[in-house]
Amino acid sequence: MKPALLDHVGRMTDDDLPAYVYDLPALREHVHAIRAALPERVELLYAAKANSASRIVRTLAGHVDGFEVASGGELRHVRALLPDAPIAFGGPGKTPAELTCALDAGVERLHIESEHELRLLITLLDDRTVDVLLRVNLPIDLGQVTLAMGGRPGPFGMDPAQLDHCLELVAADPRVRLRGLHLHLASGLQAPAQLALVDEVLAWAEHWARTHGVDLAEVNVGGGMGVDYTHPHKVFDWSAFGAGLRPLLARHPDLTLRIEPGRSVTAYCGWYVTQVLDVKFSRGEAFAVLRGGTHHLRTPAAKQHDQPFEVIPDDVWPRPWARPEVRDEPVTLVGQLCTPKDVLARRVTVKRLRAGDRVAFAMAGAYAWNISHHAFLMHPHPTFHHVDDAEASATGDAYARQPA
Ligand SMILES: *Cc1c(COP(=O)(O)O)cnc(C)c1O
Repeated sequence: MKPALLDHVGRMTDDDLPAYVYDLPALREHVHAIRAALPERVELLYAAKANSASRIVRTLAGHVDGFEVASGGELRHVRALLPDAPIAFGGPGKTPAELTCALDAGVERLHIESEHELRLLITLLDDRTVDVLLRVNLPIDLGQVTLAMGGRPGPFGMDPAQLDHCLELVAADPRVRLRGLHLHLASGLQAPAQLALVDEVLAWAEHWARTHGVDLAEVNVGGGMGVDYTHPHKVFDWSAFGAGLRPLLARHPDLTLRIEPGRSVTAYCGWYVTQVLDVKFSRGEAFAVLRGGTHHLRTPAAKQHDQPFEVIPDDVWPRPWARPEVRDEPVTLVGQLCTPKDVLARRVTVKRLRAGDRVAFAMAGAYAWNISHHAFLMHPHPTFHHVDDAEASATGDAYARQPA
C-alpha cells in the first residue's frame, strides 16, 4: 500500500473498519496508460458491471470512449452521472422495459443477443433509429480460460446460423442500422492469447461480412483481459497488446475495433481494509478471524483464489492478557460469517499476524463489493473512502456506510 493510502488508513478508527479504500490517482494513471497503449482505431469502453460506483465511473470519464452497461439499472445510473457519454447496452435477457429505456436514453449501440430480441426491439422502435451489433458465439476453441463465454454451448449471443435470420430482419427495416458484430468470448486471457483470439475473430468476421454482403464497420471483441490474483504485479501487458493490434488492424483498414474491459481496468485501484479480531489454532492449524468477510469481498470465494493482502501492524494492545498471534507459519484468513466458505485467503505464510493488526486486501476494485451478498448475517456495511491527490484525506462521502 502506498504511503498516502497507509496515512489514510492510519486515521481510521477500528469502528471505521472494514473499509473500501479506492486509489483514484492510481486508477486515472492506469486507464490513461491503457488508452495510450492502444492504437487510435481502437475504441475503449469500460464494462460498468465490474464496478459501477459513481466516483469510479466519473474518474474514468474522459479517459475512455464510452461505457458498456448490462442492465437498465446500470444504463440509468451511468446516464444520470454522464449525460453525454456514449453508452453501449449489452447482456442477455433484456426486458421490453429495458429496451425502451435504452431507446429513450439514446444509447449509442445495442448489442443484440438473439433473433427474438431483435424482433422485440423492432416492435418498440416507433419512429426511432438504432445502431446495433449482433452478438455471435463463434465456434472457436478457447482452450483453458478462466470464464469461457463462447466457443461452446451457452446463453450468450447467437450461433452463426442465427445471424442470417437477423440479417433478413435488418435488411427489411431501415430503422435498424447494423454496424457490425460483437464477440465477448472469454475472460482471463493474457496479451498474447488475447491478440491471437482477436486475430481469429476479425478474420472470421471479415469473411462472414464478405460472404453475406454486409458492410462491416465495427467489431467489438469484448473484455476479459487477464487479471492474475496470484501475481498482483503481473498486470495485463497493454503495451504488447496495443503494439500487436497495429499490424493486425492494418489488415482490416476499414474497421473500427472496440474493446470493453472491466476487471483489468478497476481491479487494482481498490483495497478492502479490515482488522484481525481473533487468532486461534484448531488442531494445530492457524486461523485469523477478521471483521467483515466474503459478504463484503466475495471475489476470492467466487473465483476460488487467495486474495492478496498486506499486514498493517498495530502495536497497541490494551488488554491485560497475552495477545493471540501467529508467527512464521501458514494462516487461513476468514471472515465473521458462520459458514466454512467465508475464506479470504487460505494457508498463507505470514511473518506475524496478531489480534488487533490490520489487513489490507489488494485487487479489490472490481467484482468485489458489488457482487457480494451484503445482507447475509446483517453485519454493518464497510465504510467507503476515495483517496485523491487533491484531497489526500477522506472526501465528503467517505464515511457513508452505503456505497456512492
Ligand atoms: C463482463 C463483460 C465484460 C467485461 O469483462 P471483464 O472480464 O470484466 O473485462 C465485457 N463485455 C461483456 C459482454 C461482458 O459480459
